[in-house]
Amino acid sequence: MAKTREDMLAALKANPRVQAIVIGGGINGISTFRELALQGVRVLLVDRGDFCGACSSAPSRMIHGGLRYLENGEIGLVREALRERDALLRNAPHFVRPLPTTVPIQNLFSGLLNSAFGVLRLRRKPAERGALAVKVGLTVYDSLARAERTMPSHAFRRRAETSALWPDLPPSVRFSATYYDAWISYPERLGIELIRDGLDANGEALAINHLGVTSREGDRLVLEDSLGGGQTEVSTGVIINATGAWVDETNAALAEAGRRPEPIVGGTKGSHLVLSHPELMRALNGHMIYFENVDGRVCILFPYLGRVLLGSTDIRVDKPGSVRCEDDEVDYILKSLSYVFPGIAVRPDDIVYRFSGVRPLPRSEASFTGRISRDHFVAELPGAPTTLCLVGGKWTTFRAFGAQAADRALEILCMPRTTRTEGRQIGGGAGFPADGAGQEAYIATLVAEFGIPPARAAHAVDHYGSRARAVLAHCRAGADKPIACSGYTESELRYLIRHEHARSPADLLQRRTSLAITGTLSSAAISQAIAVLADELGWTQQRAADEERSFRELLARDHGLSESILTGRNLTTTRSLACA
Ligand SMILES: Cc1cc2nc3c(=O)[nH]c(=O)nc-3n(C[C@H](O)[C@H](O)[C@H](O)COP(=O)(O)OP(=O)(O)OC[C@H]3O[C@@H](n4cnc5c(N)ncnc54)[C@H](O)[C@@H]3O)c2cc1C
Repeated sequence: MAKTREDMLAALKANPRVQAIVIGGGINGISTFRELALQGVRVLLVDRGDFCGACSSAPSRMIHGGLRYLENGEIGLVREALRERDALLRNAPHFVRPLPTTVPIQNLFSGLLNSAFGVLRLRRKPAERGALAVKVGLTVYDSLARAERTMPSHAFRRRAETSALWPDLPPSVRFSATYYDAWISYPERLGIELIRDGLDANGEALAINHLGVTSREGDRLVLEDSLGGGQTEVSTGVIINATGAWVDETNAALAEAGRRPEPIVGGTKGSHLVLSHPELMRALNGHMIYFENVDGRVCILFPYLGRVLLGSTDIRVDKPGSVRCEDDEVDYILKSLSYVFPGIAVRPDDIVYRFSGVRPLPRSEASFTGRISRDHFVAELPGAPTTLCLVGGKWTTFRAFGAQAADRALEILCMPRTTRTEGRQIGGGAGFPADGAGQEAYIATLVAEFGIPPARAAHAVDHYGSRARAVLAHCRAGADKPIACSGYTESELRYLIRHEHARSPADLLQRRTSLAITGTLSSAAISQAIAVLADELGWTQQRAADEERSFRELLARDHGLSESILTGRNLTTTRSLACA
């Protein structure tokens, strides 16, 4: 049985001394937590919201080396990111898969000078990237990835071949180049699996969401339970500040009176749209299209869980706060789409979801936000105990960054590293069949074993990898009911509440499941899920009603999901139920 949030709070209150506290349960804090838990450290991970509830649920979902960072001359970062990309393809094959990526190109020569400036670190805003510049970049990219040879080398195409494969690109496109990176289907779920791996490996490790750090006195930190459990104090040997865009805010809250540490983080906001658009989906021909907007920013669109994911913006923000994808960003993103697929119209109701997050980047004066480094480092604040601050980073490089922070924490704690994570499989990636035939065979076994339709088994394998059997066994144990024909069932939601620390409608419907991001969340599904949450967590009727109201407000305010959209989806749901 998994340790529940309530078990862990009780364990912490019983023994409030830990060796390390990781503040911030985004992917970088989670990675550091897993590293330390695997070394036998009594480590506590806390997040004042949900795990992967901030920036880590807002990425473009690319697991990539970062082709464009070559323009910034960041060869070391690209090499590391490519190594981590290839490791994730092996260690999390249930969620991370290759992604053919195509760059449409209009000119032969432009961008060459700019690329050279980048390598020489004379940074400027990028000029349009021409065929030769892209060719040079991809040749370097391939050579940096060569150690592993996980993916095919890039291919160049002339106009005729390009327009045969992507007839909807504009006639001005004279060349295209295709290379391979990877994408991640459920980043928030991978975060939860990493936590679970850490908890399973170390009975003393604790990971508690909805618990924020508010202040400090010496080695004692004050934690506030946002679910009504009041305050708890904890003492620690080392503090790891992994609060992303809030690193400076956290340092200020933890500083001794009269001392304010220098700011080290500067955020930029990025937003995405998810479209239900069969014509656009066909136009992509299974590829990511990686293109540049008129302002020189790189934009992406690719097939994502039956929808099209499209983004992103890159806007400086002074205070991270809570951000949302604003209407002018929607206009910017759709306008950028019109440069690459001018003949394909997008109507407002094709947008089934929108989301936004703040990149926690190192503080920088760069005038062009795309030029701010995506590299990562650990800054150290002296004091007793020492505070290690995680600055920068990408989703792709979480393992390397977490290992780097954990190595320094182990040094401070005078503890040895006993195990490494480069080759360690994650969660439902352990023992997951590597190829399509193996996965089909696994689905067929589950169909036979549980007497379920192939679509239900495929859903479980897609969401839980090799842990699908455990989830289906849980669902078989009691009476079950589909959640508004979404592919999910009520028992499955109960599993996610009991085993994966989901404590609010957003935890469950936006992060543990793919219902919100794929645009399948209907008004009926929300009511059904809230009833399950209320039953599992012992909510009063009033509490359930309050939770439902504030969740619906959040969807409307931050994700463009008004009541009329959610109610309209009930009809689709009823129709598909009838077809099922
Ligand atoms: C638009 C966009 C696109 C991106 N695309 C990609 C991509 O395709 N590929 C890629 O590799 N990377 C991508 N990234 C980058 C990647 O998402 C981030 O680098 C990564 O998620 C940062 O994780 P983090 O853990 O550092 O921060 P966060 O995920 O923001 O986590 C910080 C956590 O700290 C918590 N916190 C704050 N204060 C406190 C407190 N006092 N007490 C307790 N908890 C606290 C917050 O609640 C939050 O959960 C993208 C980012 C953005 C915004």
